[in-house]
Amino acid sequence: MDILDLSALALGRAIQKREVSVEEATRAALDAIEGANGQNNAFITVLPDEALARAAAVQRQIDDGTLTGPLAGVPLAIKDNICTKGVKTSCASKILGDFKPPYDATLTEKITAAGGVVLGKLNMDEFAMGSTSETSYYGPTRNPWDLGRVPGGSSGGAAAAVAARECWYAIGSDTGGSIRQPASYCGVTGVKPTYGTVSRYGLIAYASSLDQIGPLARTAEDCAAILDAIQGRDARDGTSLEGDYGGLLASLDGNLDGMRIGIPAECFADGLDAEVSRRVLAVADVLRGRGAVVEECTLPIMEYVVPTYYIIACAEASSNLSRFDGVKYGWRAEGYRDLTDLYNKTRTEGFGDEVKRRILLGTFVLSTGYYDAYYRKALQVKAVIQQAFDRAFARYDLLLMPVAPTTAPRLGESLSDPLQMYLSDIYTVSVNLAGLPGLSMPCGLDGKGMPVGAQLVGPALGEGKVLRAAHAFQLDTDYHTLRPQAAEGGAH
Ligand code: GLN
Repeated sequence: MDILDLSALALGRAIQKREVSVEEATRAALDAIEGANGQNNAFITVLPDEALARAAAVQRQIDDGTLTGPLAGVPLAIKDNICTKGVKTSCASKILGDFKPPYDATLTEKITAAGGVVLGKLNMDEFAMGSTSETSYYGPTRNPWDLGRVPGGSSGGAAAAVAARECWYAIGSDTGGSIRQPASYCGVTGVKPTYGTVSRYGLIAYASSLDQIGPLARTAEDCAAILDAIQGRDARDGTSLEGDYGGLLASLDGNLDGMRIGIPAECFADGLDAEVSRRVLAVADVLRGRGAVVEECTLPIMEYVVPTYYIIACAEASSNLSRFDGVKYGWRAEGYRDLTDLYNKTRTEGFGDEVKRRILLGTFVLSTGYYDAYYRKALQVKAVIQQAFDRAFARYDLLLMPVAPTTAPRLGESLSDPLQMYLSDIYTVSVNLAGLPGLSMPCGLDGKGMPVGAQLVGPALGEGKVLRAAHAFQLDTDYHTLRPQAAEGGAH
């Protein structure tokens, strides 16, 4: 048995039964990273010494019975926009330099409490802005299924690392699809939770009203266990919801009797690749076999979602990123004349092109004279989008949709045409605008051998339903067990 092929939960069980030691698992992952990172560049920072020391400490806690959770001892990696105390957190940007946060994000604390062993920090699009993980200051991540293709983004490092068996699960963030879309391109399962259920304290903000942290793993069951560990009210995040939304893992039983699932016709219109369409629609048959009622429905918002998302996301980004000025932390340009020149030089040299494009766009839509025409209008359309989902969820428990219009494009293809890249977010961004839970799961390979993902979207706090359906699907299919052949890949 190759322990790297186990699900996170299966590894957790093997560790509890003393069939595998935490150190053994950690060493296996570190070896896998050493073998793969030169090719796929999924990690910005690898922490071999810290991980092995942590593995020994976790093993002691397991041995003395103080750590018994399902993820105790299971190694993972964290996207590089989530703060890890004393460990470089770069957002894949030059401007943060070697910034080492003096504190842990709530996520990091919760993962530690669950017995996680952190292997390192994962590559991403700079400041999580992008759909391909090509805008990283540390170079692009490549898709383990074909090294000539992108892994998706912005949590491309997270999806690639899980797909390439470099860790058992990863933590990403999703502002407009950044967990679901790379999960889809790399053939893993990823969940963007309901807004407010996972604390954003210590997540470096992109667009605060849309950002949510969530898991990428091999299975829906793994994602349920991870969500159980990381969710919950946090007084340090003003948008954190009251309550406890755990107990997800225990609720998965494979039974979908009476569950009503809608397939929005608008999501399967022009612009969707025919193979992707066929594979996503085939998911419906499997879900029917488990007792669900699946039928076509309507979600008449598709032409509005991308412009609305980009106006709101860029507006918030332009405000959030004003703090990176070379004064408080991170990198500072040299040879400045005065304070204004310090700001100018640092920001000019420290941010990449895509980040600058969004700061400009965001500043524009917030400026006097354009605020009403763009930003206020976008907020109004956002309310219309939320109402359309409310109407759909009055009739259905879940919606079945594509994750992206195509499978993973070749490296370089999207960089030449940012607008085209923005349009490829059409199936994911509405879920963030409405604050809803969404899951991406593998549903087959296309003719090029690249993974296709299907998306399940639920009502607010409907994670349980989303995971239940995905788990039922994975009980009857084995797409989630397919793994890329190492070192196989297209021309670079
Ligand atoms: N691709 C989208 C964007 O660039 C989503 C990114 C994300 O979810 N962080 O904004």
